[in-house]
Amino acid sequence: MSKKGEILKDNLVLRVRKDLCLGCGLCAESCPRQAISLKSGQAQIDQNRCNHCGLCVDACPQGAIAELRPVSRRELQATVTGLKDRTQNIIARIDKLKWQQQRI
Ligand code: SF4
Ligand code: SF4
Repeated sequence: MSKKGEILKDNLVLRVRKDLCLGCGLCAESCPRQAISLKSGQAQIDQNRCNHCGLCVDACPQGAIAELRPVSRRELQATVTGLKDRTQNIIARIDKLKWQQQRI
């Protein structure tokens, strides 16, 4: 959630969480760029109109408007490598525990 009046960073993209949106329209009313419309009872954001002011994030009582940061390929690769290393460590610890149990 943005702090009141905070301008969101330009590289952020706002998305409406369909599982939380109730279609109340408060976000659309708060938008100075008319970037939000209601379709099939849910809010939709026109990214071409949005100026990242963050007012809709503050207006939503459901916390349904999420700020997404695009992830670069490099960041994604670093995350995958980190997860792989952690998984290998866990497997090594499990193997060690099994080996210790066999010796008891
Ligand atoms: S304010 Fe929140 S709950 Fe209401 S329409 Fe907008 S996103 Fe949906
Ligand atoms: S961030 Fe501002 S301009 Fe963009 S959809 Fe929300 S209220 Fe409208």
